[in-house]
Amino acid sequence: MHIAVIGTGYVGLVTGACFAEFGVDVTCVDINEEKISRLAAGEMPIYEPGLEQLVTKNMQSGRLRFTTDIKAAVEQALVIFLAVGTPPKADGSPDLSFVESAARSIAEHMNGYKVIVTKSTVPIGTGEYLRKLLRDTNPRLNFGIVSNPEFLREGAAINDFMRPDRVVIGSRDEEAIAIMRDLYRPLYLIEAPFVITSLEAAELTKYAANAFLATKISFINEIANMCDSIGCDVHDVAKAMGMDRRIGSKFLHPGPGFGGSCFPKDTQALASVAQQFGRDSLIVDAVIEVNRRQRQAMVPKIEKLVGDVAGKTIAVLGLAFKPETDDMREAPAIDIINGLIKLGARIRAYDPVAMIESAAVLPDVNYADDEYSAAEGADALVFVTEWNQFRALDMKRIRDLMKSPKIADLRNIYDPKDLRELGFEYVGIGR
Ligand code: NAD
Repeated sequence: MHIAVIGTGYVGLVTGACFAEFGVDVTCVDINEEKISRLAAGEMPIYEPGLEQLVTKNMQSGRLRFTTDIKAAVEQALVIFLAVGTPPKADGSPDLSFVESAARSIAEHMNGYKVIVTKSTVPIGTGEYLRKLLRDTNPRLNFGIVSNPEFLREGAAINDFMRPDRVVIGSRDEEAIAIMRDLYRPLYLIEAPFVITSLEAAELTKYAANAFLATKISFINEIANMCDSIGCDVHDVAKAMGMDRRIGSKFLHPGPGFGGSCFPKDTQALASVAQQFGRDSLIVDAVIEVNRRQRQAMVPKIEKLVGDVAGKTIAVLGLAFKPETDDMREAPAIDIINGLIKLGARIRAYDPVAMIESAAVLPDVNYADDEYSAAEGADALVFVTEWNQFRALDMKRIRDLMKSPKIADLRNIYDPKDLRELGFEYVGIGR
C-alpha cells in the first residue's frame, strides 16, 4: 500500500517512519522546504530517540521519501494522513487553517478513491467539515473520511506508535475502515486493541484523553501545594493514592505546571468545544486555571529561596518541556527564565538537547556546556526538566562550584534530606 503523510513534524515524521517500518510505501510531504531538504539529506529536524535510525533505514530501503510535491504524493497514495499543526488561536480555539489548506491541495490533486485521515488533533466536526470542503471543491471526488487521533508521547514516540495502548478509528465509511485496518495490520497482529467509533467520538476522545491527563497533573499540583503548607511529602500521598488501581500511579507527579504543544492547547480547545455546544467545562476550566497559577508560582518560590534575584546568577538545568525531546513549545522554562530576567537575574542554562531550540525563544540566556559549568559561581540552581542525566549528578562538586548552595528542585528529582545533609538549602514542590 502507498500512503502520504502531509506535515512532517513530531507526529507526521514518526507516523511516516513507523508505517515505512511496517512495510508500507510512504511519502512525507511538508511545505517547509528547508525541513524537507534536511530530511532528504538524512538530517533530523527534531530530536526524538531512535527516529534517525528508523528514518535512515527506511529511506535506504526505498520505502520512505520526503518531498514538497503534494501533487505526486496525493496521486500515488491510497491513504492520506493530515498531520499538520493545529495551534491555538488567541481565543483558545484551534487554528484549522493548516488543515484546510492541506485539504484543498489534496482535493485539487485527487485522481481516484482516497482515504483521508486526520491524525492532527482537530475539533469535533472537522471530519464532516472536510467532507463538505472536498465535495464543494469537486462534487465527483470519491473518498472516505477517517479520524485516527495520535496518542504518542514525545520522547517515547516510536515505541508509543509501534505498541499503542489502542488504535482509535472514527469513520462512517466502511471501505475506509477496512483499508485502515489493513494498514494497521502489524499492530493487529500484536493484539493492539482497535476501537472503531463515529468520527465525532474519535475526535472528542483525543481532547478528552489529554484533558484527563492534564487534570491528574493539576490535581496533584494542588495537593502538593497543600503539602507545602501542611508540612508533609506529596510523594507519600501520591504513592499511596496511585496504588489504588482505580486511580493509577501515572501522572501523579507534581511539577512547575504542564507545558508542551498538546496539554495547554488541547485543554483550551476542549473548553471552546464545550462552549460551541452550549455546555459547561467546569473541570477543564479549573485545570487550566490551576496550571496557570502553578506556572506563576515558580518565580516567587525561587525568590523565597534566593531573596532578591537582581544581579544574581541563577543556573537552570533543563529547558525542554519534558525530557527526551528538544520541543520548547509552552515549556515552563520560558516563563520561569523570562520572569527571573525581568527581576534582574542573570541566567546560565544547560539542556542536553534543547539549547538550539531554546536560543530562538530565550536569546538572553547564557548557555553552558554542561551541568557543572552552569552551576559554577551560581547563587542558586533550578531543576526545570527531569532529564535522567540530572538525577545522579556529583552534588558535592556542584555544592563546591556554587557561590551559595541553594536548590529549587521543581521536578522533585532529589531527596531533600540528602541535599540538606550536603549543606544545600532545598525547596521542592510539596515536600
Ligand atoms: P509540528 O508543528 O511539529 O508539525 C507540523 C508540520 O506541518 C510542520 O512541519 C509544518 O511545516 C507542516 N505543514 C503545515 N501546513 C502544511 C501544509 N499545508 N502542507 C504540508 N505541510 C504543512 O506539529 P506536531 O507536533 O507534529 O503536531 C501535529 C498535530 O498532531 C497537531 O494537531 C497536534 O496537536 C497533534 N499531536 C501532536 C502530538 C505531539 O506530541 N507533538 C501528539 C499527538 C497529537
